[in-house]
Amino acid sequence: MNFDRGDDPRTLPPDEAFVALGNETRIEILRALQNADRPLAFSELRNRVGVDDPGRFNYHLGKLTGHFVRKSDDGYAPRTAGTRIIEAVLSGAVTDAPVLEPTRLDAPCPYCGADVEVSYREERLLTRCTGCPGSFAGSDTSLAPFGTIALFDLPPVGLEDRSPRDILDTAFRWTHLEYLTLAAGICPRCSGTVEHSVTVCENHEASETHLCEYCNGRFAVDATANCTTCPRYLRGIPSVFLISKTEVSRFLTDHGINPANPSWDRAPPAVMNYDEDVSKTDPFEVRLTFEIDRDELTVAADDTLSIVAVERRDATPEI
Ligand SMILES: [Zn+2]
Ligand SMILES: [Zn+2]
Ligand SMILES: [Zn+2]
Repeated sequence: MNFDRGDDPRTLPPDEAFVALGNETRIEILRALQNADRPLAFSELRNRVGVDDPGRFNYHLGKLTGHFVRKSDDGYAPRTAGTRIIEAVLSGAVTDAPVLEPTRLDAPCPYCGADVEVSYREERLLTRCTGCPGSFAGSDTSLAPFGTIALFDLPPVGLEDRSPRDILDTAFRWTHLEYLTLAAGICPRCSGTVEHSVTVCENHEASETHLCEYCNGRFAVDATANCTTCPRYLRGIPSVFLISKTEVSRFLTDHGINPANPSWDRAPPAVMNYDEDVSKTDPFEVRLTFEIDRDELTVAADDTLSIVAVERRDATPEI
């Protein structure tokens, strides 16, 4: 469905939005409005921002009014777009470029159970296995070296007041919740429509001790969720996009794993460590078999990650 935006002054093309925000005073105006618990009159807002010249202040405020700031009889208040700007500024600017040196944790690798090691730089948490090749290796090995299990995007604020173990749990849960939203076909950043696709390594050959030399991955099939509106995309193994499907979700829940709030110790071994079988190529179909406590679930998915078949085999209860 398309909406005619007409001449609504609240809408702003992206390039004009960047121009409107390219000034420290304007960011301070948004911050002052965000910190206020009520709309602010012109003079009070100007005092809080600390600008003496009313004419200059009015000029900057005028650039924000409409798209980022709402003006009413009560005064000025932030619109949602203004609040989002402040969220972005605060999530990145709490500390200056924090770094976490490689730290070994009492947390298991989902593939081999050895301890994982975490490190953080440039807004990414690297989770690496100390005992096996992990999930993939990047062409840039400084970013994703041998043993990489996952590379989580995490804003600097995610490290504040948290131990390395808490940082791992936070990054994992935060990313997982993004996957759940993406799996529902909705972009967690902008609410736009998300498209899923898969790529397949044609010459795949990997083992417990070696990644594939062609794709540098443990698995042949890789999945991507792309927002059709904003730049948000996430790449990962297909299973992480399938957790929200009823059958997978039920399988996890039946084994004491909460798919809405999973823990690192329990969920990744169940979800990331699966058997993969590219059973058909035209049309494409991949079969993933998960195992928990000897119970198995096989899920067949197509090239948009829609489930086309499910089979569950519970182990016979021991007498
Ligand atoms: Zn491992
Ligand atoms: Zn491969
Ligand atoms: Zn989006």
